[in-house]
Amino acid sequence: MASHEHDLVVIGAGPGGYVAAIRAAQLGLNVGCVEKETALGGTCLRIGCIPSKALLESTELFHRAKEKLAEHGILLPQVELDLAAMMRRKERIVSGLTKGIEFLFKRNRIARYAGLGHIDSPGRVVVSGEKAETELKARHVLIASGSKAAGLQGIEMQRERIGTSTEALAYSEVPGHLVVIGAGSIGLELGSVWRRLGAKVTVLEYLERILPEMDGDLAAEALKIFRKQGLEFRLNSRVRAGRIENGCCVIECDASEPLRSDRVLVAVGRIPNTEGLGIDGLGIEVDQKGRIQVNDRFETTASGIYAIGDVIRGPMLAHKAQEEGIACVEQLATGYGHVNYDAIPNVVYTEPEIASVGKTEEQLKESKIDFRKGVFPFRANGRAHTLGQTEGMVKILADTATDRILGVHILGPRAGELIAEAATAIAFGASSEDLARSCHAHPTLPEVLKEAALAVAGRAIHI
Ligand code: NAD
Repeated sequence: MASHEHDLVVIGAGPGGYVAAIRAAQLGLNVGCVEKETALGGTCLRIGCIPSKALLESTELFHRAKEKLAEHGILLPQVELDLAAMMRRKERIVSGLTKGIEFLFKRNRIARYAGLGHIDSPGRVVVSGEKAETELKARHVLIASGSKAAGLQGIEMQRERIGTSTEALAYSEVPGHLVVIGAGSIGLELGSVWRRLGAKVTVLEYLERILPEMDGDLAAEALKIFRKQGLEFRLNSRVRAGRIENGCCVIECDASEPLRSDRVLVAVGRIPNTEGLGIDGLGIEVDQKGRIQVNDRFETTASGIYAIGDVIRGPMLAHKAQEEGIACVEQLATGYGHVNYDAIPNVVYTEPEIASVGKTEEQLKESKIDFRKGVFPFRANGRAHTLGQTEGMVKILADTATDRILGVHILGPRAGELIAEAATAIAFGASSEDLARSCHAHPTLPEVLKEAALAVAGRAIHI
């Protein structure tokens, strides 16, 4: 068996793993990275964030070309869909970006090992490749193995017809009727994609609301907007069973008649990927949800073995994994490394987008923290009018005593880009007055943030 030695071996080349590998190499460590898939980039790049955003962009353009261009005085004879071309564009984007990571690995002299990584003992990883096994020895091993789509009891997953986001990113035709189970980010994003292309979409959600992680007011407003877009919602609907019957998908819910559809997307969350890693034999503890337990230095309960990203506690977000990967290897190399969990944004790329950073109103009330609230609607913003996108609002929550910004929540055009200013404000410990007194270019969408900050003190100008 071939054998190699490194300072650090990273298992998994998703956003958490590949960024950790690059940062460690920058800091002078000799790094190896193990990945079982042919392409680098993990779920996010291959079958998650990137391909879904490519389809969200294409389908929104299709929808606008059909429904919205006439009001701009642009008349098209006929708008037609070439789904295969749309999918090819998505694949080109994914393949270009994965090649980009290959290039970064080479430039940073990171050794790449293809195959499944198994931690045999602390300091020893065995990679089972297609043809042979390779032994890797390293002082530090970092698990960045990510997560996989959760199944649902009673549902017979058939991949093509009853499947996960992986299948829903690549349907070969527009389904007549798509049933989506789960009104989280995946369900709403991919439900929107197929709705815009003409599918009837029914979203089944166990809770009485959508997007359980997001601010309640914004989620309620978003629900109204999505309903206007033609998405059908059945809330308080717990799915009990699902199967294929005479070529048709049948889904049984608690409170209603069985639903029949062409396809079903199961989007009820994700579970940590720990299979095959060998953690049982090493005494690495996991919690009730199967997440590897770590301390604030990302150390597992086994010496020299660390874990970051979706495989540990916290939101399953690519950028959270990246921050953790960097903090973990900086701690290894320098003794210091830090993640500010209060300043991690969360974006849902529907139309309009929904973005959030810091605490929600519900969380502040639960923790009995006194806060003041400033809300400002996009319909009072000039730039939103010129874009023709005036739905939604910004909500800023600031500490009553100190005025420090505790949470910012945005439903509206480009919310995913706008939230960056709020995340920076929270990271710098800004007050709502700091934001209110910062000059914002006019006419731009970020003026909505300034106005919401002014509204915290009851002095918004344009409302
Ligand atoms: P999620 O946890 O965000 O939402 C799942 C939804 O399914 C919840 O609302 C839940 O109440 C519902 N549900 C659970 N069991 C059900 C049942 N039996 N019947 C009906 N409804 C049920 O999960 P997701 O949308 O699958 O996303 C998985 C992870 O990936 C999340 O952590 C998410 O943050 C992440 N993600 C992020 C983005 C983004 O940042 N834009 C996009 C996609 C995924």
